[in-house]
Amino acid sequence: MDVFHTPEAARNFVSALRSQGRTVGFVPTMGALHDGHLSLVDAAMNCDAAVASIFVNPTQFGPDEDLDKYPRTLTSDLEKLKTAGVSAVFVPTKEQMYPDGFSTSVNPPLVSESLEGTCRPGHFRGVVTVVLKLLNAVPASHAYFGKKDYQQWRVIEAMVRDLDLGTRIIGCETVREDDGLAMSSRNRYLTDEERVRALLLSSALQAVEDAYQAGETRTSILQASMRHTLLGENDSGRVASDAGLQSRPCLDTLQYATVVSAHDLTPLSSIDRPAVALIAGMIGSTRLIDNRELGPT
Ligand code: AMP
Repeated sequence: MDVFHTPEAARNFVSALRSQGRTVGFVPTMGALHDGHLSLVDAAMNCDAAVASIFVNPTQFGPDEDLDKYPRTLTSDLEKLKTAGVSAVFVPTKEQMYPDGFSTSVNPPLVSESLEGTCRPGHFRGVVTVVLKLLNAVPASHAYFGKKDYQQWRVIEAMVRDLDLGTRIIGCETVREDDGLAMSSRNRYLTDEERVRALLLSSALQAVEDAYQAGETRTSILQASMRHTLLGENDSGRVASDAGLQSRPCLDTLQYATVVSAHDLTPLSSIDRPAVALIAGMIGSTRLIDNRELGPT
């Protein structure tokens, strides 16, 4: 497995394969690899060659976010990628990606503006700019993104389409722990007690799926059901502890729990087209997100 540190070296490698008519599948990551990342690598192995990147992109972190403490496990990441059969890994430094004088950025598409775009100002500008740079270094035929970061997947699809990049963007299903928690590099921040409460996200989404399967299509009802699970609210919308009832485990902060159109993430009053339920919130100092597609996609 080759490891390239400069965009030029990565591009030479990938361009040579592409000029021989080979397909190249690309998996961009920030490292701290788990089975979710490796499922993307497995999907990329359907191409003639698979290439991954590892880069903790500073420009997609807000000033109060976890850039400094973000886990960095390069040696074991490279071992995992080698075992998985990856042909090459692009591991640039911050200075290579953002040399002195760097000042260009990509304006993210409309689908970036709600949800994560509201909670994390500037995040998607950082994401689309780095993904464009990564795709310039790794001009792959296919690139694989996790639906775990559902809005990011939709934002990158739109950017690639709008800018005619020609890489096919493939969304891959979320890989979960046995108990339902979506795998994330950030799960390692959770204490034992927080890890138990983290299951509220997948339980709330399961409850929405169950209600939808039972015929409920009104998003106001489905959203209320998620808030009920996530915040320990009773049926009148009051938080149990405020109502003098015994409080149930809940998120420390709920940022959103919503059901929107799956393609453009616009609000829906009822599920009359492919939809997705999305949740973001804080458990202790850890920010978690999860989602579930509803209906045909
Ligand atoms: P990250 O390293 O967090 O930037 O993630 C790199 C890629 O892995 C992104 O496309 C993520 O959506 C994807 N990913 C992260 N967690 C999971 C998961 N549990 N299942 C599937 N894909 C994931």
